[in-house]
Amino acid sequence: MAEVPEVEIIVRDLRETMVGRTIRSAEVIQPAAVRFPTVDEFTTLLKDRTILDARRRAKYILLPLSGDLLLAVHFALWGTLMLVPAEQSRLPEILIIWHFDQEQDLRFVDKLGYARAAVGPPEILAEKLDLNSLGPEALDPDFTVDVLAHQLSKRRGVLKTVLLNQRILAGLGNRDADESMWLAGIDPRRSASSLTREEVTRLHDAIVQVLNEGIALRGTQRDLFGRKGQAIHRRNIFEKTGEPCPRCGTRIKYVRIGSRNTHYCPNCQH
Ligand SMILES: [Zn+2]
Repeated sequence: MAEVPEVEIIVRDLRETMVGRTIRSAEVIQPAAVRFPTVDEFTTLLKDRTILDARRRAKYILLPLSGDLLLAVHFALWGTLMLVPAEQSRLPEILIIWHFDQEQDLRFVDKLGYARAAVGPPEILAEKLDLNSLGPEALDPDFTVDVLAHQLSKRRGVLKTVLLNQRILAGLGNRDADESMWLAGIDPRRSASSLTREEVTRLHDAIVQVLNEGIALRGTQRDLFGRKGQAIHRRNIFEKTGEPCPRCGTRIKYVRIGSRNTHYCPNCQH
């Protein structure tokens, strides 16, 4: 599943490998994968553009291009990017192919077909994707206990729902939110504003630990070069309903909170 650690790994791979390289052409296989502009404009705009950088904002991959353009890629649940030899056989889940020099393709794939890409001038892209409304990044060095305390203090909503709201905090997906609350020993059904300073500190530290461990283990998906990450073995409770809690042995419970699958230990999360 593509959450922030998986996206961050691809961004770092792109920054190492693709900066300075030029897109020769873009080939749209699944027209629905182009969020905007039109497919024709998308391919015209991308021709002969050089990638200047690779960044991440929440789950968006942002690639500044020559000609003052920005290419945005969003993986949704299961999308990813793969850098492969141009002659490699084409899988049915390919959405878009960017052809590069040295006979390499950057392939945008998603077995569910929900992943999307868009291109345009940076300010138009930011407006259409609402990038300026996103909250602080959980992986940013500036994300401190004070920042989290401030973001939670104004919110009466349920903690799990608040943590998944990217306008409040950018960086937590469903899996990483559940794992962080388990690590911090905090019940996901609590009101966000009810956390004590000590609990906010534990939650902050848990979020930072969960995200950084995910990155250190190279995520749960394959990286840009097809190497499989090891983080799938790290999960303590996510999608482990009925299994014993690794900390206390109580069976993990499942509940839906704000339409999202949620997993927690009823004994050691308060
Ligand atoms: Zn437990």
